[in-house]
Amino acid sequence: MKEYLKASSLDEALNLLSKDSQLKVLAGGTDLMVQKHAGSLSDVRFLDINALPSLKNINEKDWGIAIGALTTYRQILNSDLVLAEFPLLAQAARETASVAIQNRGTLGGNIVNASPAGDSLPVLLVYNALLELQTQKEKRNIAYTDFHQGYKKMDLRSGELLTQILLPKGNTWDRSYFKKVGTRKAQSISKVVMAALLKMNGETIEDVRIALGSIAAFPLRCRFLEDFLKGQQLPLLKREELDRLIEQNICPMDDIRSTKEYRLQIVKNLVWDFLKA
Ligand SMILES: Cc1cc2nc3c(=O)[nH]c(=O)nc-3n(C[C@H](O)[C@H](O)[C@H](O)COP(=O)(O)OP(=O)(O)OC[C@H]3O[C@@H](n4cnc5c(N)ncnc54)[C@H](O)[C@@H]3O)c2cc1C
Repeated sequence: MKEYLKASSLDEALNLLSKDSQLKVLAGGTDLMVQKHAGSLSDVRFLDINALPSLKNINEKDWGIAIGALTTYRQILNSDLVLAEFPLLAQAARETASVAIQNRGTLGGNIVNASPAGDSLPVLLVYNALLELQTQKEKRNIAYTDFHQGYKKMDLRSGELLTQILLPKGNTWDRSYFKKVGTRKAQSISKVVMAALLKMNGETIEDVRIALGSIAAFPLRCRFLEDFLKGQQLPLLKREELDRLIEQNICPMDDIRSTKEYRLQIVKNLVWDFLKA
């Protein structure tokens, strides 16, 4: 049996996956090749989908934009469409890894790799992204918020490919915020990553979305904070009150990259920085 197969069309890829659901989809390979080198994928057979042009485009629709799952970070950060409508995604792509990885790594790979520290993931949460998933027999769309369900656990069915990431437009925001905190500026895995959007009506917070990565088993929207902030007068916010709320609702993970105490302090600093910047 061949260890490596390469699909030349979406139909062929879906057909091969329908016959052998054990095949491991290979996109840019920037996560998979690290895992293979570490020996954790020794018996795995790969299905390379990199040659599927239909999954490599960013297309404007009347409702928003559709990003093919194989779109690379480089394409994203060079896209006028993304820059104009979803600037946080371009910023996350710019701050991901190095130029070499940006040329190869894909948005779809970042999502399905499901690292709690995936930098694009909090951005997809605040933009209310949808995912298009496809098998040979059916196509379905789900809200990205429902996709990750636990550590590396996700709503991806047997024989299914992630084909597109859909970003609905229609909201205008007064402030867009993305911050990644790591050991150093370049090439570091986030200890905390935050994406947030703010819409004001005079001095009142009309709408706000905040998402955090590298805090729990998968990136999460901070609904408790959003609910608290909506309707508040921005100039009257008190840092002590916000800090207390964050302490009561967030218990970050402790791992080799950082401690829960440090992560909690960073979250408090970032939330305040976002609101008061
Ligand atoms: C040096 C280095 C630095 C890095 N820095 C960062 C960083 O700063 N921030 C960050 O978030 N990540 C970083 N990464 C991780 C990685 O580059 C990203 O997660 C990247 O987006 C993975 O995309 P890929 O196409 O290479 O995925 P692959 O390695 O090809 O695949 C990853 C996983 O997704 C699955 N998969 C891929 N595409 C699909 C699809 N369309 N449908 C179904 N399953 C699919 C694969 O089966 C596999 O399980 C770094 C990696 C390296 C090696």
